[in-house]
Amino acid sequence: MEKWVVKAIQVGSIQLDRSAMTHYRGKGEQLVVPIWCAGATDGKHKVLVDTGIRDLKEYQKAEPGVRQTSGQDTVSAVKRIMGWNPEDIDIVINTHLHCDHSGSNGKFRNSKIYVQKKEWEAAFEPLVPEAPFYDTLCFDKQAVNFFQWQFLDGDTEILPGLQVITTPGHTRGHQSVLFHTEEGVVCVSGDICNVAENVNENLEPNIVVLVPEVYESLKRIRQAAHYILPGHEPAIQDGSEKFVPVL
Ligand SMILES: [Zn+2]
Repeated sequence: MEKWVVKAIQVGSIQLDRSAMTHYRGKGEQLVVPIWCAGATDGKHKVLVDTGIRDLKEYQKAEPGVRQTSGQDTVSAVKRIMGWNPEDIDIVINTHLHCDHSGSNGKFRNSKIYVQKKEWEAAFEPLVPEAPFYDTLCFDKQAVNFFQWQFLDGDTEILPGLQVITTPGHTRGHQSVLFHTEEGVVCVSGDICNVAENVNENLEPNIVVLVPEVYESLKRIRQAAHYILPGHEPAIQDGSEKFVPVL
């Protein structure tokens, strides 16, 4: 089995009420949480999970608390943490197509872009609570060469030691990414877990479109992973390879 090295890459932050991410727990507590991507390599391939924001001002219309310091745009952040230029990246995996996870897809011109087919279809027909977060300029034909898309239909091994599993609930076609590392299996969870508390305490994340599926997805992650890099976990450091244990 190939061993992967995975690093957290911060591409912005969001100020919000803690309870937005933890199903009403912690109401009134203001938090600033990171927006995470992940860079990963097995020594041969360069993989990026999620691509951050497309346009800060545009995203602020959906999420007024979003911030980005200089050097947190995705291209600069990937260079700083991984030492990679955009054209170096072989594979982009989108956990889902919300605009803080797919926003910079178009920057990675040489990458194949992996997404669940169901997610791509759902993104063009958003439900009311998700509509502000699907920005077609992140994923339509203008954004990304159509032939770069690799549409997946369920759980898939992309490379040895690199799998995706379906984790619907936050969106209809959400997936999480599993990397086999020296320390164990690391799950890059996107927003099925905004924070590790979601998986470890069985709490719904922010924005749920399929309630029973959320709990099945959290169970799948508990069964599959030893560590988790959630989409917005504040306990993880920028550039770190240390993630939160899955209990
Ligand atoms: Zn999301």
